[in-house]
Amino acid sequence: MSSKITKVKGIYDILGKEAKAFSLIEETFFKLTKLFGYERVFLPILEREELFVRSVGDTTDIVEKEMYTFEDKGKRKVALRPEGTAGAVRAYIENQVFLSESYTKWSYFGEMFRYENPQAGRRRQFYQAGCEYFNAPLPTADGELIYLASWILKELRVNAELYINNIGCEKCRPRYKAYLIDYLFSKKEKLCSDCQKRLERNPLRVLDCKNPTCRDIVEEAPNILDFLCEECKDHFEKLKEILDILKIPYKVDPFLVRGLDYYTKTVFEFKVNSLGAQNTVLAGGRYDNLIKELGGPDIPALGFAMGVDRVALCILNLLEDKREGVIILPFEEKYIPFALKVFKLLSEATNILEKIEEEIDTKKFLFVKNLMENEKLRNFMIEVRNRIELPNKLGKIKKLFNLADKKNFAYAIVIGEEEVEKNFITIKNLETREQFNLPLNMLEV
Ligand SMILES: [Zn+2]
Ligand SMILES: [Zn+2]
Repeated sequence: MSSKITKVKGIYDILGKEAKAFSLIEETFFKLTKLFGYERVFLPILEREELFVRSVGDTTDIVEKEMYTFEDKGKRKVALRPEGTAGAVRAYIENQVFLSESYTKWSYFGEMFRYENPQAGRRRQFYQAGCEYFNAPLPTADGELIYLASWILKELRVNAELYINNIGCEKCRPRYKAYLIDYLFSKKEKLCSDCQKRLERNPLRVLDCKNPTCRDIVEEAPNILDFLCEECKDHFEKLKEILDILKIPYKVDPFLVRGLDYYTKTVFEFKVNSLGAQNTVLAGGRYDNLIKELGGPDIPALGFAMGVDRVALCILNLLEDKREGVIILPFEEKYIPFALKVFKLLSEATNILEKIEEEIDTKKFLFVKNLMENEKLRNFMIEVRNRIELPNKLGKIKKLFNLADKKNFAYAIVIGEEEVEKNFITIKNLETREQFNLPLNMLEV
């Protein structure tokens, strides 16, 4: 036997129940973002390394330690994207979207890469569902975005708490930074070794440290909210008012900074209780200077990203093994041609149901009339629309039913000698074990 090839460390196959959770998250995310005017875009996974160095920041953990970077065959320094915003902003500028649209709302779903120590809720290849809202200076945009985020989580039945902060702008943050550095230097000896390094390069990141001693020191640190300029203060007050009107509960956390350099003013995180240290399931904020800093015009923007892997962990036990769909079970090989006919007729019938309002085919009237009057038949046809499969094995009746049960079908269509002779199918509800017949001429006329 040849040796097996295994997956790369920290990179996972998404299969089975987890894949179902991913699909549900993707579906819900795009349904609601579309409702709020977002257009889905498809952005590259591979970008120039420089893009992330200049946007996420060269002193952040992501860029310093976690990026997958390499030289391509043309000697270009490239990176697998560690997050989605930088690439979206690059695309927005490069395609000059701002020339044709007064404002732009993009949504996307895809894989991101960070070379971190794998643990629960932290993978080297992970998925984000993200939104970017370009050219929206008003705090109503922040409110709308947070409302959208909270609705997506609610729809997915994820119980998360919202934390908000305002981390200031280029006018007010430098003064805060200076006070913070002074304070942290006075406590330097007590800080963890990572934070001692951060102190020199990126002091705001100390506020993010999970070390308990550092946390205690941060508790007493100067508070950004006391340093905000009039514009930032006003933006923050208005956002809180908007959240109150929209009845979105929140907590203000003055030490919430996010691990990326591009944020200005509003930052927010949704956290759950169930995931231990990796408890942030969705996070975002405003990045009013990023477009300009990456060579575009001076356009304010904001966005968020949802951690799909983490949300999937939260909803995994909520996904029931629901019975769904219909399988066709001919008992012998000679019934297969009849089974194929049933498959074709039923799958086409799903089409009539879609078109029922625009063009009622009078020939199918009997079937539609029956469908309307017969609850059993109607429920069966709903399941046909969910899933209909042909047999892929022959065998004893009991074995076939077991197979249909295991695959969680709602109904099985039984095909034996009598059925073929008299041109009908026997439909068995696999949950209640009830059965009824459907004459095929009802579909054939
Ligand atoms: Zn400010
Ligand atoms: Zn620390």
